[in-house]
Amino acid sequence: MSDRLLLASIHDVSPRFESEIDRLLGLLAPSVGSRVALLAVPNHWGDAPIMPGSPFAGRLRRWADRGMEIFLHGYFHRDDARHGRTADRIRGRFMTAGEGEFLGLSRDEACRRIAEGRSLLEDVIGRPIDGFVAPAWLYGDEALAALTECQIPIAEDHLCVWSPANGARLAKGPVITWASRTRARAASSLLAAAALRHAPLKVLRVGVHPPDCRHPALVRSIEKTLKLAARDRRPGRYSDLL
Ligand SMILES: [Zn+2]
Repeated sequence: MSDRLLLASIHDVSPRFESEIDRLLGLLAPSVGSRVALLAVPNHWGDAPIMPGSPFAGRLRRWADRGMEIFLHGYFHRDDARHGRTADRIRGRFMTAGEGEFLGLSRDEACRRIAEGRSLLEDVIGRPIDGFVAPAWLYGDEALAALTECQIPIAEDHLCVWSPANGARLAKGPVITWASRTRARAASSLLAAAALRHAPLKVLRVGVHPPDCRHPALVRSIEKTLKLAARDRRPGRYSDLL
């Protein structure tokens, strides 16, 4: 079997997007089975909490029992901090429509949200979380320091996967992802996916988002990317990199 890996993830796992998550799981299953990382948001936009004991919490636990990795994915997801640096503000505003929650947080606030989110998710799934991924893959310097302080085993951004706990670089190469907010972005993400799925990377990462499943062209591209990647890659888990 190939030593090249395919790592698939579903972003924004929240009760708000439950039906989209079901569709995405169905889309990914033929290629990767239960080798899927779920990026869970404890309280999406402050009004979609994952409540211990709720039906959604029960599903999250069963997904973890089936071997899916659970990552903490921000706390609120939305960027509600005041950014000191203009460049960060512009990145947060224009690249992500204000979804870069961990771009402008202080170290203390980032630590607090990580600790609270982690304890909620671990209570729900009954095991340690596998890692942390910042909303929109955007990290400020203070957030990076917080990840190390919290000894998070695995984190990733657009370009690499690393271990904040020990500083090791685990994989590099851009993640394949799709955008649906505007036609132009969707078109350019389709082009990028078509090129990147042939890239000779040791670890190929594919990240999908709830709105992707509402766009037939994106669904076709996701299916094609996974099918092609699974041909000569082993669907793996992020923890395989440790
Ligand atoms: Zn997200």
